[in-house]
Amino acid sequence: MFVAMKPHATEAEFQAVVEKITALGLTPHPITGTERKVVAVIGNVASVEPDDFASLPGVAEALRVSQPFKLVSREVREEDTVLDVGGAQVGGKAIAIMAGPCSVESREQILETAHAVKKAGASFLRGGAYKPRTSPYEFQGLREEGLKLLALAREQTGLRVVTEVMSTEAVPLVADYADVLQVGARNMQNYALLERLGQIEKPVMLKRGLAGTIKEWLMAAEYIVAKGNPRVILCERGIRTFEPMTRNTLDINAIPVLKSLTHLPVMVDPSHGIGIRKHVPAIARAGIAAGADGIIVEVHPRPEKALSDGHQSLTPAEFEGLMRQVRVIASAVERPIA
Ligand code: PEP
Ligand code: MN
Repeated sequence: MFVAMKPHATEAEFQAVVEKITALGLTPHPITGTERKVVAVIGNVASVEPDDFASLPGVAEALRVSQPFKLVSREVREEDTVLDVGGAQVGGKAIAIMAGPCSVESREQILETAHAVKKAGASFLRGGAYKPRTSPYEFQGLREEGLKLLALAREQTGLRVVTEVMSTEAVPLVADYADVLQVGARNMQNYALLERLGQIEKPVMLKRGLAGTIKEWLMAAEYIVAKGNPRVILCERGIRTFEPMTRNTLDINAIPVLKSLTHLPVMVDPSHGIGIRKHVPAIARAGIAAGADGIIVEVHPRPEKALSDGHQSLTPAEFEGLMRQVRVIASAVERPIA
């Protein structure tokens, strides 16, 4: 359930609502950043009637939320969540462009890539320092050294850094270096990690699990927000289907469905979504055309030498070509590039 206050409701009227929620043994969760003051009522609301609140002074309306996800739902917050990440917006009118290698491999590799993607028009640099690899014998990432190289690349280019965090213990360290902390597909339902990320101030990009339904994914986002961090970005990166011809199947449907169910920004990862370099631009274009708030694309200066995901990484020249197309598609859906 949520309670929305009238535009000129007083602080005392708002506090009375909060106190009533607490007195009923429920948890009040104020929704910030909206034009009207809204408080979500979290807990077992079955025995409470919206009318119990609707009759209080200063209350405009009280309604049950039909979905199991509450704080991330559009029912509770109508306006889009727009995140400001070091001056670049995610979730606003402008399309956010994130690009960089799958893994940070060396100082030369990350700096060369960072300068190239910046020149082509990206405003975020992606790169994994902690890599969730299917095989324990494959490159696992440079870890803290990788984080330091990402920070150096930010210093040189002004790009904001997006990088994955895989464990609760690593959250403080990764949060020290990253501008956006990525939760990988394999950790979408790692609830301990999600709750820990709910306790930081930085934005979290939550990728869709390989077999995660949209509802499960939004419930995972709800974990982060319920713990106190409303700065969540969703990223559709393809799901596992019966089709082995492509690495994953990017669920284009998820984009408009999410945009109507939630106020959170929605990104698209065409690289993992299809997993085949030559087809990445088509899926990137489709994602933006379908209404995504941005794309995150793997770019490597020498994909054939990459330590991970070279087969789906664009060269800097290919990324530049994609950016020319992205500008056209973005303008067709009346959106600028961030
Ligand atoms: C990645 O971004 O390199 C990655 C590992 O992605 P995902 O978690 O979506 O597989
Ligand atoms: Mn990758």
